[in-house]
Formats: sequence, structure tokens, C-alpha cells
Amino acid sequence: MKKNTVDILGVPVATYTMREARDTIARQLKEGRESGEKKNPWLIATANAEMIMMATVNRALMDVLNSADLVVPDGAGTVWAAHELGYEMPERVAGYDLVQELLKIAPEEENGFKVFFFGSAPGVADAAKAKAESLYPGVQVVGCRNGFFTEADEPEIVKEINESGADLLLCALGVPKQEIWLQKHLPQLKISAAIGVGGTLDVMAGTVKRAPLWMQKAKLEWAYRGILQPSRIGRLMALPKFVLAVKKAKH
Ligand code: UDP
Repeated sequence: MKKNTVDILGVPVATYTMREARDTIARQLKEGRESGEKKNPWLIATANAEMIMMATVNRALMDVLNSADLVVPDGAGTVWAAHELGYEMPERVAGYDLVQELLKIAPEEENGFKVFFFGSAPGVADAAKAKAESLYPGVQVVGCRNGFFTEADEPEIVKEINESGADLLLCALGVPKQEIWLQKHLPQLKISAAIGVGGTLDVMAGTVKRAPLWMQKAKLEWAYRGILQPSRIGRLMALPKFVLAVKKAKH
């Protein structure tokens, strides 16, 4: 198993704090820029209970997560599972929050990395870019592309990302499409890291709301998403299944 990771139902999840995750990624971006040659980009995934459960039945997703450079514990369920299995895990590193932390430090002189927003419905990435520019003055979002395309469009998308000069790619195609897309295309991408960010651009654009802070603190964010997006109710069933699978793995 990789250093600083614990095994949750076969998925290697990092035991980093938010700050450690952010700094590790920032270092990778910096190395890419300083070497003048961006290659071997990192694939970063944010694993919540639903993703881990999906990986147990989706071989392709499980393979991506096992070859990923960093899988952070996105969600209270993942942290609970780590503790239940007897591991140390300091805190959850939610994908949305990790992206905000990275965008916040992006314009800083010692960082200065450029970001590309890829995914979500037409217009969403552009609205998320406008939001990022108002929240984090000086941030360089060097490209936006919606996430609805055919295979024939893919070479053009790769070209667009490469020509943008981005260091970091945020890929919002949903799980597991984004992870599988990244694994397939990373070797051709001249970037330093990519993160599968799910609904993050939607939340930034304001098309989907995040749970109120008290619900996030009460670890009820999953319930809020289920109520707000009834199409997700079926997906919520992954949670009790996850709890049972973790209890079983423990014994
Ligand atoms: N999406 C996309 N292309 C697709 C399917 C989905 O860009 O072919 C986008 C969708 O618009 C949404 C995101 O992927 O912005 C998925 O968000 P969700 O909250 O479902 O993320 P998940 O829970 O799967 O991480």
C-alpha cells in the first residue's frame, strides 16, 4: 500500500489533512512549472462513500483509484469507515473545499498556477470561472469547456486543454466518467495534475446549492443532496450498503 494511505474496501485513501492535501498538490504543480516540462500528470480523486461503494462493483473505477496519485477522503462516511477499520484519519477533505483552497492560493506568487474548468452543462464552467475570479482576485482560469461531448470531440478537447497552458485541470463529468476519462487522456495532457470534481462547478456556478453549514457540520450533507436532487435518492442507498460492507470488512 502507498505511504500515508489506508485501505477502505480496496480503495487506497490518503490520511492527509486539508492543508497537507492542498500543499502536496501545490508542490506537484510547482515542480511541473519549474521543470518546464509538464508530464506524468497526477490523477486526484475525491472518494466519498458512494464512490467507494461503486468501485467495489466497477472494476474500471477500482483500477483508476488504485493507480491514482492521490485519493482524498471526501465525506464523513469515508472518515467514519477509516476509524471503524481502526485507522487514523484526521479529517475529511471534501472535493469542493479542496478546490476552493487551491483556487485561493493559485494567484499567490510562489504558486501562480493556471486552472482549466472542464465539465458540467453548457455555461456552468463559465459561471464558475466568473465566481472564482470574484472570490479569488488574480486567479487564472485559462479555459472552460462543458462536459457534453462525443468521442469524436475528444482530440479537440485535449488540444484545447494543452493549448491553454493550464497546470491544473478540474474535471466535472460525474463519477465514474471523470475518473475513467482522466485515466485514458492524462498521458496526452500537458498539465501537472487533474482532479475529478463531480458537482463542484455546479455549486460554484450556483446551479446546485451546497448544504447549509450546520448540516455539513452535523455530517448530513448527503441527506441534503438527496432531498434537493430527488434523482439522487436511489444513489443514497449506497450509504447503508457502505456501512454494512465496512462492518463486514472489520470482522
Ligand atoms: N456531467 C457532464 N457530462 C456528462 C455527465 C455529467 O459534464 O456526460 C456533469 C453534470 O452536468 C454535473 C457533474 O457532471 O455537473 C456531475 O455532478 P454530480 O453532482 O452528479 O457528481 P458526482 O456525485 O457524480 O461526483
